[in-house]
Amino acid sequence: MSLSALRRLIIPILLLLTAILLLDVVAELRSDYLQFFSWLPYVTLCAVFVLCLYYNQARLFTAALALLVSYYLIRTELQVALTVPHAVLIYSMLSIALPVTLLLLMLLPARGLRNLYGALLAAIVPLQLAVGLWLIYYFSATTTALFINTYMPVKPVSGYVLSITGSACFCIAFLAGVVLLIKRNSEDMAALLAVLLFCFVTLAFFKQMGISTIMFSAAGISLIISLLRNSYDMVYRDDLTGLLGRRALNERLKGLAGNYVIAMMDVDHFKKINDIYGHDIGDEVLNMVGKHIAAVQGGGTAYRYGGEEFCIVFAGKNIQQCKPLLEEIRLKLSNYNMALRDNKQRQLPKIKAEQRRGRRASNRDGETVSVTISIGVAEQDKLHNRSEDVLKAADSALYKAKKNGRNCLVCY
Ligand code: GH3
Ligand code: MG
Ligand code: MG
Repeated sequence: MSLSALRRLIIPILLLLTAILLLDVVAELRSDYLQFFSWLPYVTLCAVFVLCLYYNQARLFTAALALLVSYYLIRTELQVALTVPHAVLIYSMLSIALPVTLLLLMLLPARGLRNLYGALLAAIVPLQLAVGLWLIYYFSATTTALFINTYMPVKPVSGYVLSITGSACFCIAFLAGVVLLIKRNSEDMAALLAVLLFCFVTLAFFKQMGISTIMFSAAGISLIISLLRNSYDMVYRDDLTGLLGRRALNERLKGLAGNYVIAMMDVDHFKKINDIYGHDIGDEVLNMVGKHIAAVQGGGTAYRYGGEEFCIVFAGKNIQQCKPLLEEIRLKLSNYNMALRDNKQRQLPKIKAEQRRGRRASNRDGETVSVTISIGVAEQDKLHNRSEDVLKAADSALYKAKKNGRNCLVCY
């Protein structure tokens, strides 16, 4: 749980601001150009569908489908004044259905698109469409318009057309989304939150010329960027710690030039942690160690090298500059006591995991665990010109640190 997750919203917010700035430009476009741009949301959303199918992303696929259907309805049914009964009905349904659908997608777990679950999730959109059509045909336009004008009238403030009910739905979905983003720190959560923002701006300032085209195009672009970032994370990030993994380190090593320092780190006696507390707590300890290492100062980049081994690369630095930064991590970690939780939510999978490993469950509530790390450091010099050689030198310094009694730093 960290506020840094909110950084994932930077690109969508920049896109939103750009889209807002472009509104005036679009309003002045000739109608044939406007006609041409009106296809942009369809194009970007189709690209999203392809990427979602490729990366097996059910929630973003469903969000894109909801955007596509909404945009189609806006272009075909809502190009009239919101006083027209059928238009006000469709607009009001969108102002409820969009935030509710996006909130649902944020709450539901990700289980892939190319399976029954993915198909059922995507079916939410046609289901809502069917309910909407049923409402339109079952109740007369004047009855529904009277209901909407009484309970959720549009245009509470001039320029802002969203009803109080619609605004409240967006507000609740937004607050829930922010909490979930901070809690889960995942790219799809940020993507869904961004889609919510684009939909909100579209419906709130609906009378602005070309707003749906601009905002839905931006929403499609934002989804594409999120999917690409997600795929980068899948390829280069380690699942357990969230740090960059070995593949990312190998890429980095290829591009290193000039002065640089490589530090190799290994958790001391980690096998014992697994033996005493079990593999699950071992994983939590690794996660905690990863967080300490990722907090490195001085522009160092942390990587999980593999197992309980980590690596930090400092570009443009020498050993003397890096030593205090690394010592700080080692000291902080050796003084840190990680509390063990044994809450009920974890009990079930834990018991299953322990059955799998032939270990009995034990209540460790209130206990703490602490670990130390050994560090080997090397820098680029005449003898070690290639990054692989510097890495090997750091590794042999780490071996010496282990021999020196562990919980210490050795420079090559
Ligand atoms: P030393 O101080 O010499 O490094 O002792 P050590 O016990 O840490 O020695 P070693 O490197 O041989 O043991 C590493 C252990 O880390 C073995 C392996 O089971 C465990 N391990 C590797 N990856 C993971 C992981 O992802 N999760 C957990 N829980 N354990 C892991
Ligand atoms: Mg090891
Ligand atoms: Mg070890």
